[in-house]
Amino acid sequence: MVLSLAPLESPSPAHICPFDQACSYLESAAKELKLDQGLLAILSHPRKAITVTIPVKLDNGDVQVLAGHRVQHCDVLGPYKGGTRYHPTVTLREVSALAMLMTWKCALLGIPYGGAKGGIAIAPAQYSERELERITRRYTSELLKDIGPSTDIPAPDVGTSAREMAWMMDTYSVNVGHAVPGVVTGKPLSIGGSLGREMATGRGVMIVVREALAQQGRAIAGSRIAIQGFGNVGSAAALLLHEAGAKIIAVSRGSGGIFAEDGLDIPAVKAYAAQNNRNLIGFPDAIPITNTDLLALPCDVLIPAALENQITADNVDQVQASIIAEAANGPVTLEADRALESRGVMVLPDILANAGGVVVSYLEWVQGLSYVFWNEERVNQEMEGLMVQAFQQVMKQSTARQVSLRLAAYTLGVGRVAQALSDRGLYP
Ligand code: GLU
Repeated sequence: MVLSLAPLESPSPAHICPFDQACSYLESAAKELKLDQGLLAILSHPRKAITVTIPVKLDNGDVQVLAGHRVQHCDVLGPYKGGTRYHPTVTLREVSALAMLMTWKCALLGIPYGGAKGGIAIAPAQYSERELERITRRYTSELLKDIGPSTDIPAPDVGTSAREMAWMMDTYSVNVGHAVPGVVTGKPLSIGGSLGREMATGRGVMIVVREALAQQGRAIAGSRIAIQGFGNVGSAAALLLHEAGAKIIAVSRGSGGIFAEDGLDIPAVKAYAAQNNRNLIGFPDAIPITNTDLLALPCDVLIPAALENQITADNVDQVQASIIAEAANGPVTLEADRALESRGVMVLPDILANAGGVVVSYLEWVQGLSYVFWNEERVNQEMEGLMVQAFQQVMKQSTARQVSLRLAAYTLGVGRVAQALSDRGLYP
C-alpha cells in the first residue's frame, strides 16, 4: 500500500517519484516491525506542507515569481530539521520525500529532531548574488511563522551554503527584533556557526566507508573509489578519503567527470575546479568520463554524491563496486536497490551515510544554546562517536533481522519515531 499525498503535483510519468519511493521504504520497515496501521498512516503523511509564492525583482528590473516549499514531516522527537535546496528539479513531492528521510535520519542518529526540508526550483548559477539574496530573504519572510529555533531549523542542502543561512538568520532576526542564531545551522562562524560543519557530511561519508571496509577486513589506504558529484559533499569526502590513502579514480560534476587509473590528486582537482567555474574537464593527467561511465567503473567503493535516481534498473547491472555509500539522498532507485541486495553489494543507505551534516548541525545548535563553542577536534570527535555508533547499530540490526543495511537503518529510525508517537499518544 502506498499512501499518496493529495494535493501535491504529480511527477511526469517517466520520472520515478521520490515520495512514493520513500513511502515504499517506510512500508517495508513497518511490515518488518509489524507496525500498527494507524501509526503507519500518520507517518506516511507530512504534518505540514507549505508552498509560498516568492516574487523577486531581477537586476534588470523584471519581476519573476517563484514557488518555494517547506515540508515538515514529523516533530514527535523534537523541532523540525532539514536543509534548503535550490535546484531546478525541486518539486513539492521531492521536498516531501526528503523531509521524511530527515525524520528517519535524525532518529537513527539519536539526535532529538524531527524531519523537514525546503526548496526552491531555481538554478542558482542563473542568478546574481544580489538576486539570490532577495530570493532567500523573501522566502524566509514568507516562512516566518513556520520556522524558529525551537520549531523548525533550516540548514544548507544542494545549491545553498553558509551564505544563504546568514541571509535567512538575518531576515528572521530583523523581523523578530533580536538576533536569533539558532534559527538556522550551517551558518558562518562569525554568527555562531560550528567549526567542522562545512566538511561534516563528507567526513561522515568517509567514516562509514572506513567502517564498511573494516567489516570486510580492508582499509581505506589503497582502496579504489569513484565519486559522482564534486559539490560540497562529494569534494569533502574525496579529500578526506584521499588523505586517508584511498585512490580516488574518478570524480564528476553535472557537466562531466575525470578519470585517472592511478588516482587523482584531489587537492589539485579542487584548485582546478575553483579556477574553472567548478568545471573538471580539462584537468591535466586525467581522461574525461561521463557520469554514466563513472557509475560503471571497476572500483571498491562507489559514492553517488549528486542527486536522486542515479543508479536505476537500467544501469544497475553495470555497477561493479562492492560497496556503495549513498552520500546523496535517494541516489539508488527501489528496483536497483533490490538488484544490488540480491547481488550482495553492501549499500550504505543515505539516512546513515550522509548523516554527518545534520549531526554537526545538531552540535552547532547545542553549542549555540549553551553559549560554549568547541574546537574543531572536539566537534569531529563528537560527530565520529555518533556516526560509528549508528553504523554499529545498523550492522547489528541487519544481522539480527537478516535484512539489508537499508531496511535495518529504516527499522531503527522508524521504530524509534513510532515508539515516541505511541508513548506520546494521539491528541485529542
Ligand atoms: N541537508 C543536509 C541533509 O540532508 C543537512 C540537514 C541539516 O543539517 O539540517 O542531511
